[in-house]
Amino acid sequence: MKDIATPSRTKDILSRHGFSFKKSLGQNFLIDSNILQRITETAGLTKETGVIEIGPGIGALTEHLARTAGKVVAFEIDQRLLPILDETLSPYDNVKVIHEDVLKADVKTVVEKEFAGYDRLMVVANLPYYVTTPIIMKLLEDKVPVNGFVVMLQKEVGARISAKPSTKEYGSLSIAVQYYTEAELAFIVPKTVFTPPPNVDSAIIKLMVRGEPAVRVQNEDFFFTVTRASFAHRRKTILNNLVNGLPNGKEKKERIIAALEKAGIEPSRRGETLSLAEFGMLSDALLNEDI
Ligand code: SAM
Repeated sequence: MKDIATPSRTKDILSRHGFSFKKSLGQNFLIDSNILQRITETAGLTKETGVIEIGPGIGALTEHLARTAGKVVAFEIDQRLLPILDETLSPYDNVKVIHEDVLKADVKTVVEKEFAGYDRLMVVANLPYYVTTPIIMKLLEDKVPVNGFVVMLQKEVGARISAKPSTKEYGSLSIAVQYYTEAELAFIVPKTVFTPPPNVDSAIIKLMVRGEPAVRVQNEDFFFTVTRASFAHRRKTILNNLVNGLPNGKEKKERIIAALEKAGIEPSRRGETLSLAEFGMLSDALLNEDI
Protein backbone atom coordinates (compact mmCIF):
# COMPACT_ATOMS: atom_id res chain seq x y z
CA MET A 1 0.00 0.00 0.00
CA LYS A 2 1.24 3.49 -0.89
CA ASP A 3 1.99 5.94 1.95
CA ILE A 4 -1.00 8.00 3.10
CA ALA A 5 1.18 11.07 2.43
CA THR A 6 1.34 10.64 -1.34
CA PRO A 7 -0.71 13.24 -3.25
CA SER A 8 -2.80 10.57 -5.04
CA ARG A 9 -3.63 8.49 -1.94
CA THR A 10 -4.45 11.61 0.12
CA LYS A 11 -6.72 12.86 -2.66
CA ASP A 12 -8.47 9.49 -2.86
CA ILE A 13 -9.01 9.28 0.93
CA LEU A 14 -10.35 12.83 1.14
CA SER A 15 -12.74 12.45 -1.77
CA ARG A 16 -14.06 9.02 -0.75
CA HIS A 17 -14.93 10.44 2.69
CA GLY A 18 -16.20 13.74 1.31
CA PHE A 19 -13.83 15.58 3.66
CA SER A 20 -13.57 19.37 3.47
CA PHE A 21 -10.72 21.20 5.24
CA LYS A 22 -11.48 23.43 8.21
CA LYS A 23 -9.12 26.37 8.09
CA SER A 24 -10.13 27.30 11.65
CA LEU A 25 -8.58 24.00 12.87
CA GLY A 26 -5.28 24.61 11.10
CA GLN A 27 -5.82 21.67 8.74
CA ASN A 28 -2.87 21.52 6.34
CA PHE A 29 -2.01 17.90 5.64
CA LEU A 30 1.44 16.65 4.63
CA ILE A 31 1.75 15.01 1.23
CA ASP A 32 5.49 14.34 1.12
CA SER A 33 6.92 11.11 2.54
CA ASN A 34 10.51 12.43 2.49
CA ILE A 35 9.63 15.19 4.94
CA LEU A 36 7.89 12.66 7.19
CA GLN A 37 10.95 10.46 7.18
CA ARG A 38 13.16 13.42 8.10
CA ILE A 39 10.80 14.25 10.98
CA THR A 40 10.96 10.73 12.44
CA GLU A 41 14.76 10.67 11.99
CA THR A 42 15.09 14.01 13.79
CA ALA A 43 13.05 12.58 16.68
CA GLY A 44 15.45 9.61 16.92
CA LEU A 45 12.61 7.09 17.27
CA THR A 46 13.11 3.42 18.09
CA LYS A 47 10.72 0.67 19.16
CA GLU A 48 11.61 1.62 22.75
CA THR A 49 10.22 5.15 22.25
CA GLY A 50 6.64 6.19 22.96
CA VAL A 51 5.17 9.06 20.94
CA ILE A 52 2.43 11.59 21.61
CA GLU A 53 1.08 13.12 18.42
CA ILE A 54 -1.17 16.17 18.29
CA GLY A 55 -3.52 16.41 15.33
CA PRO A 56 -3.07 13.24 13.26
CA GLY A 57 -5.30 14.55 10.43
CA ILE A 58 -5.75 11.56 8.10
CA GLY A 59 -2.73 9.79 9.61
CA ALA A 60 0.10 10.83 7.27
CA LEU A 61 2.65 11.38 10.06
CA THR A 62 1.02 8.86 12.42
CA GLU A 63 1.77 6.05 9.97
CA HIS A 64 5.49 6.92 9.89
CA LEU A 65 5.54 7.19 13.69
CA ALA A 66 3.79 3.82 14.09
CA ARG A 67 6.39 2.15 11.87
CA THR A 68 9.37 3.48 13.81
CA ALA A 69 8.20 3.96 17.43
CA GLY A 70 6.90 1.48 20.01
CA LYS A 71 3.51 3.11 20.53
CA VAL A 72 1.72 6.26 19.34
CA VAL A 73 -1.09 8.09 21.13
CA ALA A 74 -2.64 10.84 18.99
CA PHE A 75 -5.04 13.60 20.09
CA GLU A 76 -7.45 14.75 17.37
CA ILE A 77 -10.10 17.43 17.93
CA ASP A 78 -12.08 16.93 14.69
CA GLN A 79 -14.66 14.15 15.00
CA ARG A 80 -14.99 13.90 11.18
CA LEU A 81 -11.44 12.51 11.02
CA LEU A 82 -12.09 9.56 13.35
CA PRO A 83 -13.66 7.16 10.80
CA ILE A 84 -10.94 8.13 8.31
CA LEU A 85 -8.19 7.37 10.84
CA ASP A 86 -9.91 4.06 11.67
CA GLU A 87 -9.50 3.10 8.04
CA THR A 88 -6.06 4.54 7.24
CA LEU A 89 -4.38 3.33 10.44
CA SER A 90 -5.97 -0.13 10.49
CA PRO A 91 -2.67 -1.83 9.49
CA TYR A 92 -1.03 -0.52 12.70
CA ASP A 93 -1.88 -2.08 16.07
CA ASN A 94 0.34 0.27 18.11
CA VAL A 95 -1.69 3.46 17.59
CA LYS A 96 -4.42 4.91 19.78
CA VAL A 97 -6.42 7.95 18.72
CA ILE A 98 -8.02 10.06 21.45
CA HIS A 99 -10.82 12.38 20.33
CA GLU A 100 -10.03 15.44 22.43
CA ASP A 101 -8.82 19.03 22.26
CA VAL A 102 -5.23 18.63 23.47
CA LEU A 103 -5.48 22.00 25.25
CA LYS A 104 -8.22 20.56 27.48
CA ALA A 105 -6.75 17.09 27.85
CA ASP A 106 -5.11 15.71 30.98
CA VAL A 107 -2.00 14.64 29.08
CA LYS A 108 -0.09 13.67 32.23
CA THR A 109 -2.69 11.06 33.16
CA VAL A 110 -2.76 9.76 29.57
CA VAL A 111 1.04 9.37 29.71
CA GLU A 112 0.84 7.44 33.01
CA LYS A 113 -1.83 5.14 31.61
CA GLU A 114 -0.56 4.58 28.08
CA PHE A 115 3.21 4.69 28.39
CA ALA A 116 4.05 2.71 31.54
CA GLY A 117 7.31 0.89 30.83
CA TYR A 118 8.57 3.37 28.22
CA ASP A 119 11.66 5.30 29.37
CA ARG A 120 11.74 7.56 26.34
CA LEU A 121 8.79 9.66 25.29
CA MET A 122 8.67 12.23 22.49
CA VAL A 123 6.01 14.63 21.24
CA VAL A 124 6.08 14.55 17.44
CA ALA A 125 3.53 16.59 15.54
CA ASN A 126 2.66 18.80 12.62
CA LEU A 127 0.95 21.32 14.87
CA PRO A 128 -2.22 23.27 14.06
CA TYR A 129 -0.75 26.75 13.52
CA TYR A 130 -3.53 28.70 15.28
CA VAL A 131 -2.50 27.20 18.63
CA THR A 132 1.20 26.28 18.26
CA THR A 133 2.48 28.31 21.18
CA PRO A 134 -0.34 27.45 23.65
CA ILE A 135 0.15 23.72 22.96
CA ILE A 136 3.92 23.81 23.51
CA MET A 137 3.61 26.00 26.61
CA LYS A 138 0.84 23.85 28.10
CA LEU A 139 2.91 20.67 27.80
CA LEU A 140 6.02 22.40 29.23
CA GLU A 141 4.27 24.23 32.07
CA ASP A 142 2.24 21.15 33.06
CA LYS A 143 5.59 19.34 33.19
CA VAL A 144 4.30 16.42 31.15
CA PRO A 145 7.18 13.93 31.51
CA VAL A 146 8.47 13.86 27.93
CA ASN A 147 12.10 13.84 26.79
CA GLY A 148 11.52 16.19 23.93
CA PHE A 149 9.51 17.59 21.05
CA VAL A 150 10.00 17.49 17.30
CA VAL A 151 7.29 19.69 15.88
CA MET A 152 6.38 21.49 12.71
CA LEU A 153 5.29 25.08 13.12
CA GLN A 154 5.43 28.45 11.37
CA LYS A 155 9.05 29.28 10.38
CA GLU A 156 8.78 32.64 12.11
CA VAL A 157 7.63 31.05 15.42
CA GLY A 158 10.43 28.47 15.12
CA ALA A 159 12.94 31.30 14.74
CA ARG A 160 11.56 33.08 17.82
CA ILE A 161 11.59 29.92 19.95
CA SER A 162 15.23 29.09 19.13
CA ALA A 163 16.55 32.70 19.04
CA LYS A 164 19.70 33.81 20.86
CA PRO A 165 20.04 37.15 22.74
CA SER A 166 20.61 40.35 20.73
CA THR A 167 18.74 39.10 17.67
CA LYS A 168 15.45 40.55 16.49
CA GLU A 169 13.65 37.22 17.06
CA TYR A 170 14.73 36.93 20.72
CA GLY A 171 11.90 37.62 23.15
CA SER A 172 9.79 36.30 26.01
CA LEU A 173 8.79 33.21 23.97
CA SER A 174 12.48 32.31 23.41
CA ILE A 175 13.03 32.58 27.15
CA ALA A 176 9.89 30.68 28.15
CA VAL A 177 10.78 27.72 25.91
CA GLN A 178 14.56 27.78 26.48
CA TYR A 179 14.02 27.87 30.24
CA TYR A 180 12.65 24.31 29.98
CA THR A 181 14.38 22.99 26.85
CA GLU A 182 17.40 23.12 24.57
CA ALA A 183 15.88 24.48 21.40
CA GLU A 184 17.22 23.93 17.91
CA LEU A 185 15.78 24.77 14.51
CA ALA A 186 16.19 21.48 12.61
CA PHE A 187 15.09 22.36 9.07
CA ILE A 188 12.84 24.58 6.97
CA VAL A 189 9.86 23.14 5.12
CA PRO A 190 8.37 24.74 1.98
CA LYS A 191 4.61 25.35 1.58
CA THR A 192 4.45 22.93 -1.35
CA VAL A 193 4.54 19.77 0.78
CA PHE A 194 1.05 20.42 2.23
CA THR A 195 -2.50 20.26 0.98
CA PRO A 196 -3.86 22.90 1.11
CA PRO A 197 -0.60 24.90 1.29
CA PRO A 198 -0.44 27.18 4.37
CA ASN A 199 0.13 30.92 3.92
CA VAL A 200 3.55 30.83 5.55
CA ASP A 201 6.72 28.76 5.37
CA SER A 202 7.20 26.15 8.06
CA ALA A 203 10.03 24.77 10.15
CA ILE A 204 10.78 21.70 12.20
CA ILE A 205 12.10 22.48 15.63
CA LYS A 206 13.59 20.10 18.13
CA LEU A 207 13.22 20.85 21.84
CA MET A 208 14.99 18.54 24.29
CA VAL A 209 13.70 18.96 27.84
CA ARG A 210 16.47 19.89 30.31
CA GLY A 211 17.03 17.82 33.47
CA GLU A 212 16.97 21.11 35.38
CA PRO A 213 15.63 24.46 34.15
CA ALA A 214 18.27 26.62 32.39
CA VAL A 215 18.49 28.94 35.41
CA ARG A 216 17.62 28.46 39.05
CA VAL A 217 15.20 31.15 40.25
CA GLN A 218 13.42 31.77 43.54
CA ASN A 219 10.01 32.15 41.90
CA GLU A 220 9.26 30.84 38.39
CA ASP A 221 6.05 32.86 37.90
CA PHE A 222 7.81 36.07 38.84
CA PHE A 223 10.74 35.24 36.51
CA PHE A 224 8.28 34.99 33.61
CA THR A 225 6.50 38.20 34.70
CA VAL A 226 9.86 40.01 34.61
CA THR A 227 10.81 38.64 31.17
CA ARG A 228 7.42 39.51 29.68
CA ALA A 229 7.58 43.05 31.11
CA SER A 230 11.15 43.48 29.80
CA PHE A 231 10.04 42.89 26.20
CA ALA A 232 6.75 44.81 26.31
CA HIS A 233 8.27 47.67 24.28
CA ARG A 234 11.36 46.48 22.49
CA ARG A 235 12.79 49.97 21.90
CA LYS A 236 12.52 50.97 25.56
CA THR A 237 15.28 50.36 28.11
CA ILE A 238 14.98 47.52 30.58
CA LEU A 239 14.46 50.11 33.36
CA ASN A 240 11.54 51.80 31.58
CA ASN A 241 9.91 48.49 30.73
CA LEU A 242 10.15 47.27 34.34
CA VAL A 243 8.88 50.59 35.76
CA ASN A 244 5.90 50.50 33.39
CA GLY A 245 5.30 46.76 33.37
CA LEU A 246 5.73 45.51 36.94
CA PRO A 247 2.85 45.94 39.42
CA ASN A 248 3.24 49.41 41.05
CA GLY A 249 6.56 49.73 39.19
CA LYS A 250 6.38 53.53 39.04
CA GLU A 251 6.40 53.85 42.85
CA LYS A 252 9.24 51.33 43.10
CA LYS A 253 11.59 52.91 40.57
CA GLU A 254 14.47 53.40 43.05
CA ARG A 255 14.26 49.78 44.17
CA ILE A 256 14.19 48.58 40.57
CA ILE A 257 17.38 50.56 39.88
CA ALA A 258 18.98 49.02 42.98
CA ALA A 259 18.02 45.50 41.84
CA LEU A 260 19.43 46.12 38.33
CA GLU A 261 22.68 47.30 39.93
CA LYS A 262 22.88 44.25 42.19
CA ALA A 263 22.32 41.98 39.19
CA GLY A 264 25.10 43.82 37.32
CA ILE A 265 22.77 45.06 34.58
CA GLU A 266 23.02 48.61 33.21
CA PRO A 267 19.53 50.21 33.44
CA SER A 268 20.01 51.62 29.93
CA ARG A 269 20.29 48.18 28.31
CA ARG A 270 17.41 46.73 26.30
CA GLY A 271 15.70 43.51 27.36
CA GLU A 272 16.72 41.80 24.14
CA THR A 273 20.41 41.91 25.18
CA LEU A 274 19.91 39.96 28.42
CA SER A 275 20.74 36.25 28.59
CA LEU A 276 18.57 33.76 30.49
CA ALA A 277 21.15 33.77 33.30
CA GLU A 278 20.92 37.58 33.56
CA PHE A 279 17.11 37.46 33.64
CA GLY A 280 17.42 34.89 36.44
CA MET A 281 19.72 37.13 38.48
CA LEU A 282 17.49 40.13 37.81
CA SER A 283 14.31 38.37 38.85
CA ASP A 284 15.89 37.20 42.13
CA ALA A 285 17.37 40.67 42.79
CA LEU A 286 13.95 42.28 42.25
CA LEU A 287 12.36 39.80 44.68
CA ASN A 288 15.05 40.59 47.25
CA GLU A 289 14.11 44.28 46.90
CA ASP A 290 10.51 43.28 47.75
CA ILE A 291 9.18 43.97 44.26
N1 SAM B 1 -0.68 15.32 11.18
C1 SAM B 1 -1.40 15.62 9.98
C2 SAM B 1 -0.43 15.83 8.84
O1 SAM B 1 0.73 16.13 9.13
O2 SAM B 1 -0.82 15.74 7.69
C3 SAM B 1 -2.32 16.83 10.14
C4 SAM B 1 -1.67 18.10 10.65
S1 SAM B 1 -2.73 19.53 10.60
C5 SAM B 1 -1.51 20.79 10.45
C6 SAM B 1 -3.26 19.80 12.28
C7 SAM B 1 -4.24 18.78 12.86
O3 SAM B 1 -4.53 19.15 14.21
C8 SAM B 1 -5.59 18.67 12.18
O4 SAM B 1 -5.92 17.33 12.01
C9 SAM B 1 -6.58 19.34 13.16
O5 SAM B 1 -7.90 18.84 13.08
C10 SAM B 1 -5.91 19.01 14.49
N2 SAM B 1 -6.21 19.93 15.61
C11 SAM B 1 -6.47 21.26 15.53
N3 SAM B 1 -6.63 21.78 16.76
C12 SAM B 1 -6.45 20.75 17.65
C13 SAM B 1 -6.52 20.66 19.07
N4 SAM B 1 -6.76 21.74 19.83
N5 SAM B 1 -6.33 19.45 19.66
C14 SAM B 1 -6.08 18.35 18.89
N6 SAM B 1 -6.00 18.39 17.54
C15 SAM B 1 -6.18 19.56 16.92
